[in-house]
Amino acid sequence: MQKKGVAILGSTGSIGTQTLEVIRAYPDKFDLQVITAQSNAPLLIEQAKLFQPNAVVISDESKYQEVKDALFSEDIHVYAGNQALCQVVEFNEIQIVLTALVGYAGLRPTLAAIEAGKDIALANKETLVVAGELVTARARAKGVNIYPVDSEHSAIFQCLVGEFHNPVEKVYLTASGGPFRGWKADALKSVTPAQALKHPNWSMGAKITIDSASMMNKGLEVIEAKWLFGLKNEQIDVIVHPQSVVHSLVQFQDGSLKAQMGLPDMKLPIQFALTYPERFKTDFPRFNFLDYPQLTFEKADPETFRNLQLAYDVLEKGGTAACALNAANEISVQLFLEEKIGFLDIARINEQVMLQTPFIAAPGYEDYVETDRIAREIVLKQV
Ligand code: NAD
Ligand code: MG
Repeated sequence: MQKKGVAILGSTGSIGTQTLEVIRAYPDKFDLQVITAQSNAPLLIEQAKLFQPNAVVISDESKYQEVKDALFSEDIHVYAGNQALCQVVEFNEIQIVLTALVGYAGLRPTLAAIEAGKDIALANKETLVVAGELVTARARAKGVNIYPVDSEHSAIFQCLVGEFHNPVEKVYLTASGGPFRGWKADALKSVTPAQALKHPNWSMGAKITIDSASMMNKGLEVIEAKWLFGLKNEQIDVIVHPQSVVHSLVQFQDGSLKAQMGLPDMKLPIQFALTYPERFKTDFPRFNFLDYPQLTFEKADPETFRNLQLAYDVLEKGGTAACALNAANEISVQLFLEEKIGFLDIARINEQVMLQTPFIAAPGYEDYVETDRIAREIVLKQV
């Protein structure tokens, strides 16, 4: 078998480093072509020396010389800046691009990879939230596959294997409920970033961890599911499942439910996205039922966790609404982490900005760019 050429956008993050673990486990299956980072030069250099990719990109141009000097004696191309991200994904040797960068920044390189005919292993859910209609249309036009990395969407994808011609009645996205499951607004008012950063089941980057605490993550995943699987809004339901063992479920038109289960470990969905339709043997710890004598399920609380409701609202509205919500959320999460706003302000600001940002019903790429820019500006003006 020919090795699969892989690019990892965001190799220094939580998903990126776990993807490298997967790649390292199968040296005869994968050929790592490109790794990239925003600004963590030391880790990018270390990874480059270890994995010997064809090229690395450091988005922060002020770190270029540091990376260039450190890799001087290696046979590795070094590039800097955001434009370079869009160019390196086009290399001939790449078959699949794993998008593990955070937020709206993933949109342009993902589109560039699609235009170059590369399959996408998509962790960067914000790309589909911002411009799911455009991205999936371009992928269809180019005959490119988008394989989910997000555990819930990987679960749905795994349930659909062998069922592609059978209509889906409904999908259930499971949610852990995060660190504040069951809390009400009064208690949430004064929570700190440190509290919100303590996720009960998953260790992830800061932005998605705050999104998990505010239920924005589940809202973004509802939108992601719509575009990945071509679902109507009312076909996507959220159920809180604190043990994070059932990763999501699909209900078919005969009423049968299929679930995908396992220990919470992102390496499995990452690996499946890279190896589909094959499953490679792993030595990951196996699930033990007796460690989980009870699996429980609860209703979500979109009144307290407003972000979840906002996600359904923007789905209903379509156009650039989700793009505006995403942009507002990226800034409000950052402001919360900087302790400039409170936890409940995140959803409050998100809602206001989503309503104030000019709406475009049938957007093209430039409209998304403009919407993202305006929404960010509105947040910063208000705070
Ligand atoms: P992270 O913050 O740990 O890592 C982000 C990576 O992207 C880093 O390598 C960083 O250098 C790079 N990056 C960040 N901003 C960038 C920018 N503007 N331009 C270029 N590069 C940039 O994040 P993460 O937790 O690994 O999450 C990555 C993506 O995967 C997010 O979209 C997240 O929602 C999604 N995701 C993560 C998990 C998880 O377990 N961590 C699970 C499901 C989905
Ligand atoms: Mg998820």
